[in-house]
Amino acid sequence: MKHTQLYIGGQWRDASDGGTFDVLNPADESVLATVASGTVADAKAALDAADAAFEDWRSRTPRQRAEILRKAFELFSARLDHFARIITLENGKARSDAMGEAAYSAEFFRWYSEEAVRAEGHVGMAPSSGARIVVHQKPAGIAVLVTPWNFPAAMGTRKIAPALAAGCPVVIKPASETPLTMLELMPLLEEAGVPPGVVNVLPSRSSGAVVGAMLEDPRVRVISFTGSTEVGRKLLHAAADNVVKPAMELGGNAPFIVFEDADLDAAADGLMLAKMRNIGEACTAANRIYVHEAVEEPFVAKYAERMAKLKMGNGLEDGIDVGPLVNAETRDKVAHFVDDAVSKGAKLRLGGQRPNVKGFYYPPTILTAVPDNAECLQDEIFGPVAAIQTFTDEKEIVKRANDTIYGLVAYLYTGDMRRGLRVSEALEFGMIGLNRGLVSDPAAPFGGVKQSGLGREGGKEGMQEFMETQYISTTW
Ligand code: NAD
Repeated sequence: MKHTQLYIGGQWRDASDGGTFDVLNPADESVLATVASGTVADAKAALDAADAAFEDWRSRTPRQRAEILRKAFELFSARLDHFARIITLENGKARSDAMGEAAYSAEFFRWYSEEAVRAEGHVGMAPSSGARIVVHQKPAGIAVLVTPWNFPAAMGTRKIAPALAAGCPVVIKPASETPLTMLELMPLLEEAGVPPGVVNVLPSRSSGAVVGAMLEDPRVRVISFTGSTEVGRKLLHAAADNVVKPAMELGGNAPFIVFEDADLDAAADGLMLAKMRNIGEACTAANRIYVHEAVEEPFVAKYAERMAKLKMGNGLEDGIDVGPLVNAETRDKVAHFVDDAVSKGAKLRLGGQRPNVKGFYYPPTILTAVPDNAECLQDEIFGPVAAIQTFTDEKEIVKRANDTIYGLVAYLYTGDMRRGLRVSEALEFGMIGLNRGLVSDPAAPFGGVKQSGLGREGGKEGMQEFMETQYISTTW
């Protein structure tokens, strides 16, 4: 690994106290790299660098910023293989998943190169006074970006691209399990023309202290976080002191509903995507699968046939569909969910046996007749385990699907579009996959309601998180 230091103000440097931490390869538990662990002093240095770069970056024309983002897209697209390899090495996901992530990550640069020139305002007239109301948008200020390990590239580019398009410099703290992909992105951004200090990367094992210190600095105006709801809550509390604008992409507990009139092959294919993309380590992963009683048997048979074909192994090898999970803790949690459900009466249809090999592997698993009190229905499974229940009534299933603190994404399959739209509207989720098992798209607003988050990433909306509206009252 070439880049293992902090990246501050366009320079590579060690942590101020010389501290480091190890990044493991989940496929064989070996040490992949030893990375500098940023300190509070380093966080202050990163904010100084961002602050120094802000004036120049915000005063570039939108077209200049757009051209740099476009170049970043082109460079990234030419190196998908390279990025996919690093993603697989540090995260574990299979090459096909990593290639998908790399392509998705690059697209944020393209989309926001197109959006950078479209930050719109408007002019109106005050109804009573006749004064003009001039509304325009300005970059919000320095943004702190905190990202998780499940998409080491995409969760970063989904924040960096809109921030840069808006004119904001950023300090990004990648997850400690997977900092290498983000570090590797920095030479690419330099080559694209991003000036020193506009993007700074601060890997750190002391996430709480480092991010907390940045939120205490009045120069920070945005905290954009993707990760667990538990950490998101803490950051919302911390952001309150300086009233920092929050953008929060948090946990999910997605329902996947198959109605009796659904195309069962399409639904089984959709569930493969919604459950197995990223080995289930996705906030969008189908977590609670509800199949209409009348079609349970044929649907589960079709789904089990697809799941049984998946090949598990080192994600770098050809023909592998399911790599290892990211770490021992995640693997053990998944194993616990399965054991818990089975001990409470769930039936194991496929998988469920932890292989006795090095690496954090867990096989594709299907549970049916999962009882309501199984822990996997309340919590994110974050692994390749499909937990299936049945239902009989539309109203009842909407109620059950909504019975969660989360509201990120829900999926439903039905042959009746009137029902599809009626149920979509009744579901309390920020995103709906209607006869689709994948909703993520750079051009669409990604995000949740309830305790799944605040704000949106992607689409037109994504840039708004990094902008402030200003209104000028005048007459002419
Ligand atoms: P996590 O919350 O443990 O960590 C996320 C990031 O926050 C990491 O960089 C981590 O180092 C940092 N962090 C941890 N404690 C912190 C603290 N006290 N202060 C500041 N930063 C801190 O989440 P994770 O385990 O890396 O990722 C999995 C979670 O992310 C899941 O809950 C998943 O649903 C969620 N997720 C959500 C989305 C979304 O868009 N809604 C996307 C991907 C993942």
